Amino acid sequence: MTGIFIALGTNIEPRYEHLQEALRLLDHHNDISVEARSPIYETEPVGYTDQAHFLNMVVRIETSLEPLELLTACQGIEQQLGRKRSIRFGPRTIDLDIIMYQDAIIQTDVLTVPHPRMHERAFVLVPLKQLAPDVSVPGLDKTVKNLLEVCSDHEKKDVIRWNKTDLADA
Ligand code: AMP
Repeated sequence: MTGIFIALGTNIEPRYEHLQEALRLLDHHNDISVEARSPIYETEPVGYTDQAHFLNMVVRIETSLEPLELLTACQGIEQQLGRKRSIRFGPRTIDLDIIMYQDAIIQTDVLTVPHPRMHERAFVLVPLKQLAPDVSVPGLDKTVKNLLEVCSDHEKKDVIRWNKTDLADA
């Protein structure tokens, strides 16, 4: 079984609290339970680079929700955390992306699973590898570990393990 994975990202302070609040809301959802969490990583922004560094992590959940229902639940949490965005790939209070939903391959106007950019994003692959190194990504037929091996060193070096104690240095 592949599992259901959600990636979380934030680059608006207080970043750690935003992650914790999103995890709490996910886990308190009646139909979702958070089963495993990756470590937290601090990452350079990708795309629109003139913005603060992100904290990123990945969780494995169990849920009775169908993929589109899960997307709605994730968007509800984003809204509760007051996400306001005007720039694509720009600053965000919290971003929740469905990375994989079991073996599903979904392509609709509102939802693409596995997430279309996951295979090239070290900030997703590095935390995901901590939870599921040998899972084969549906449609790509490569494991998470394999995908990370071919991910550029440039991207990988910008994903650094982060600890709550790092707050003291902020
Ligand atoms: P983003 O800016 O990355 O948060 O993307 C938001 C949009 O991506 C939303 O309108 C979603 O409908 C769409 N989307 C497509 N696939 C996914 C996915 N796997 N997880 C989350 N959002 C998705």
